[in-house]
Amino acid sequence: MTGVLGHETAPHEGPDPASVAALIVELQSVGLRTDAEVETRVGGAGPTDAGMLWIEGFPVTVPVRTEDARRSPYVLRHEDDGGRAIYRDGRRLASVADTRRPRYYDRTTADGVPYWKIALLHLDSMASTVVQTCNYWNTADQCRFCGIGVSLAAGSTIVKKTPEQLAEVSVAAKELDGAVDATLTTGSSTAPDRGARYVARCGRAVKDASGLPVEIQFEPPRDLAILDEVHATGGADAVGIHVETFDPQVLAHVAPGKARTGIETYFRTWERAVALWGEGRVSTYVILGMGEDPDLTVAACRRAVDIGVYPFIVPLRPVAGSLMEDWAPPPGPYSNRVYRQVAAYMSRRGMSAENAVAGCARCQACSALNAVQPLLQIGRRPGAGA
Ligand code: SF4
Repeated sequence: MTGVLGHETAPHEGPDPASVAALIVELQSVGLRTDAEVETRVGGAGPTDAGMLWIEGFPVTVPVRTEDARRSPYVLRHEDDGGRAIYRDGRRLASVADTRRPRYYDRTTADGVPYWKIALLHLDSMASTVVQTCNYWNTADQCRFCGIGVSLAAGSTIVKKTPEQLAEVSVAAKELDGAVDATLTTGSSTAPDRGARYVARCGRAVKDASGLPVEIQFEPPRDLAILDEVHATGGADAVGIHVETFDPQVLAHVAPGKARTGIETYFRTWERAVALWGEGRVSTYVILGMGEDPDLTVAACRRAVDIGVYPFIVPLRPVAGSLMEDWAPPPGPYSNRVYRQVAAYMSRRGMSAENAVAGCARCQACSALNAVQPLLQIGRRPGAGA
């Protein structure tokens, strides 16, 4: 483990940005013990099972429910003044802002569905898996890191959210809890559009009702002309089309369905999407810690950046109930190296999260990329301490 932080802080004295970046990288690797209650997200599409915190003003998701997290040297504690902070070996490392239960979770639609089953609040982003089924689920093609069927089986969501339900919840999420955008994803379908049209309709309803910027996420449609149609709905300010890993051998093992789509198909789809939505408004998840070649990964992230795609790099977050639930997140130093190389390239190409406007790349809570990137611009090394 690396990134031992340089100094402790008094309750009202902030640590320097390099220490905060190092702490985030480490927490996303080793997890966080909690003596205090934390809002968490369980199940869903993609990486989940995370506690959601504001650490020194940075939105961060960290593992809190895993065995590793229960053994983590980092612990979240209440403080005498009513605040909370992260400690290691009795040293205070960083302040944590309150993450209370969203107020809108207490509401119910006219037809009796609790709002929290329709969309969750991820820090300041309303998020929903609008269709909670995927044609790959429970087949040999199921993505091994994914938990989309877990929350459905647990009864903590409904199988399909209507545009009207999402619109209603988005207004409450904005007005009662300060949501600043909406992230709408969907399981994949066998239809030619892979579910993109429906999630775009949902996005349009959310935008019309609440005015929130929206990111929609879907798999590459079979026909790229569908992207033009999706863009024309006006239901998305940004899109996420997620290859998950650039290493073809790893992709074939962890996401066989996506591997059959093919990495070059993702690049072709991104090119068309960037032409429609603009540079930095098209993103892909890039999950670290699944056995990938890091040099190949960095090179492919640079290629994505070159065509205007934001590579949203995240460490593997093993989801309980997924096929990778027994895996561990990658070591912090490994993630840190990849973050640094890609962030430096992004800075050279003028790309940052500021262009993202909505969605995962705007929120940044699952990644330390946005905490690391400014340090490179001012010549600091995350993990170097004070
Ligand atoms: S395509 Fe993969 S990651 Fe997406 S919902 Fe289906 S199984 Fe999950």
